[in-house]
Amino acid sequence: MTTKELVDVLIIGGGPGGTPAALALAQAGKRVLLVEAGRGLGGTCLFEGCIPSKIFRETAARRREIARAAEFGLQRNLADAPPIDWSTVQTLRHHILTQRAQGALAKAKALESLEVVFGQARLTGARTAIIETRDNQREVHFSKAILATGSVPNPLPIKGAELPGVLDSKGLIEIGFIPDSLVLIGGGPIGVEMAQIFAMLGARVTLLEATSRILRPVDSVLAGLLRERLVADGIGVQTDVTVESIEGTQRQHVVRYTLGGQTREVSGQVVAIVAGRRPNVAGLGLEATGVRHDRHGVKVNETQETDEAGIYATGDLVGQPMFAHWATAQARAVARHILGHEAPYPRPEHNSAVIFSYPELGMAGLTEEGARAAGLEVAVAEYDYRGDARAQISADAFGRLRIVYRRDDRRIVGIHALVEGAANLMGEAALAVRHELQLEQLASAIHPHPTLTEAFGLAALAAL
Ligand code: FAD
Repeated sequence: MTTKELVDVLIIGGGPGGTPAALALAQAGKRVLLVEAGRGLGGTCLFEGCIPSKIFRETAARRREIARAAEFGLQRNLADAPPIDWSTVQTLRHHILTQRAQGALAKAKALESLEVVFGQARLTGARTAIIETRDNQREVHFSKAILATGSVPNPLPIKGAELPGVLDSKGLIEIGFIPDSLVLIGGGPIGVEMAQIFAMLGARVTLLEATSRILRPVDSVLAGLLRERLVADGIGVQTDVTVESIEGTQRQHVVRYTLGGQTREVSGQVVAIVAGRRPNVAGLGLEATGVRHDRHGVKVNETQETDEAGIYATGDLVGQPMFAHWATAQARAVARHILGHEAPYPRPEHNSAVIFSYPELGMAGLTEEGARAAGLEVAVAEYDYRGDARAQISADAFGRLRIVYRRDDRRIVGIHALVEGAANLMGEAALAVRHELQLEQLASAIHPHPTLTEAFGLAALAAL
């Protein structure tokens, strides 16, 4: 059956780049239709990204802590590291994501002018779309639309990539066992996080990266320190490699790659290709509109509007940086814009993010290299966490804080921290970068003792 109707705003995609806009617009009284093709509201972040990977990390990090209990004077009768009941971890994942998806849906349902439909949306023109659900097809006319269909794993043209047992990040999240050995192809945030998680869970892990360093856009000093840590923890890290082929059976794979002109191989029970993600435009019907896109994403202007007036795009669909909070910041800005409230759009040089490596790597604003490339004259205030009281108490005295500031007025343009606990330092860092605080202001804030955040004041003081 086909019915025809009119909505103020059609939003395609119920992830972090779509749902917050739907809620904000409906709260302001707009008639909103939010269409989500998956099993619930939450997107990649909830079902196969941020949340499940951090659930795994929690188990891995706690296991590591238990294995180190004797360092803190705790006598135990356990073996070095406790055995793992992986099904409990996967059940916990299901429980948390079901609860969160239900919470998001309940919030949406509480808004009278917001309708959520679980189905597939396809644009059929500049102001029309078809929504297909299992038992219904609707044609919708809209005044405005927000495209937030996210991204999908980037397949690499490697011979054997299609073999069973060769996974992508989604497959790794859904894995039913902890492999004895794991080869990860791709040394970006997902590759590094997964390498350390599975290594802490007891797998022998190899990480293969095509470029000359892991975590390419990250502060190079911190990425270098983290690489040392990965190697010290027994993870095989190879950069500058070209992966040629994957061969094998479901139970054992051999990955062949070249490094410096020589062919090498590494075996793994599981191989995962985690080399980035690409914008998800498949089946969206962009060809029926004036919306332009390339392999980096849908093209938008400074208000996130595409080349088709009235159609906006947010989140992973518009390309890098691909982070949940960034998608949400864009979604909220577009909602404000549609409502006629002119407010600043989020700017990449103010973004913050955390790579949940071990130790965590937090970043806000520009890296030293990025600032120099942008023509800024900068210096770096540093702090070594080896001498830090809090880090010593936690027996995690490793890492560095790097504050990038402009030489002329000492305004802060970037803060980067590698230390276990860095995730919770990034709020202060984001605030300092967003408001371009001066080193003096950071130094004059009274930071509590003994905490990891004291380093902000100490690094600033030392530089002054
Ligand atoms: P998505 O979350 O991908 O949502 C898009 C939604 O659109 C999906 O639910 C999809 O079903 C739906 N959709 C697609 N096509 C249609 C259609 N035609 N009709 C209807 N619906 C459609 N980010 C962080 O900030 N922190 C992290 O720790 C983090 N960890 C990650 C770990 C992993 C393993 C991965 C893969 C990603 C991680 N990310 C993390 C990135 C984060 O998940 C994404 O940046 C974020 O989900 C992007 O939000 P989005 O709304 O743009 O897209």
